[in-house]
Amino acid sequence: MDCIFCDIAEKISEAEIIFENEKFLAFLDINPVNYGHTLVIPKKHYDNFLTIPATELEELTRLTQYLSGAIKRALKADGFNVISNNGITAGQSVFHFHFHIIPRFENDFHMRPRTIEYNTSEIESYAEKIKESISKYEGLLNG
Ligand code: 5GP
Ligand code: ZN
Repeated sequence: MDCIFCDIAEKISEAEIIFENEKFLAFLDINPVNYGHTLVIPKKHYDNFLTIPATELEELTRLTQYLSGAIKRALKADGFNVISNNGITAGQSVFHFHFHIIPRFENDFHMRPRTIEYNTSEIESYAEKIKESISKYEGLLNG
């Protein structure tokens, strides 16, 4: 498969790696939003947030939390963003699931997404649509 992150995981392509174990890899983004912008990936290829298996996602999330703390301390950052873009319209450009960790420093936050406004009662109808779709979650959790 033609995937730059698989190539990085397999050491076919180079990257500035900051952490590696058997299952996961973290490296600096080649086109960073800020100094220390890091990508955390599973070595196995999954397209996005919806297709990575739950157990692997849990481990990856825990690792992302740990690395966020390490990056924040190391760079004396004031804060950080953890984000995941899913689908072209959401800005995903590499279709191998990854979390971004973006360190933030005072006064550098230019990346505010635009906001929209709901019309009266519109907010309720959006909530209803989403709640209908969530209804099976408890069953999922209880196996
Ligand atoms: P996405 O747009 O899919 O959320 O994020 C993909 C990220 O991967 C981008 O921020 C982009 O700069 C980064 N990226 C793309 N190709 C490479 C590469 O070959 N090496 C590294 N280190 N980062 C890459
Ligand atoms: Zn891949």
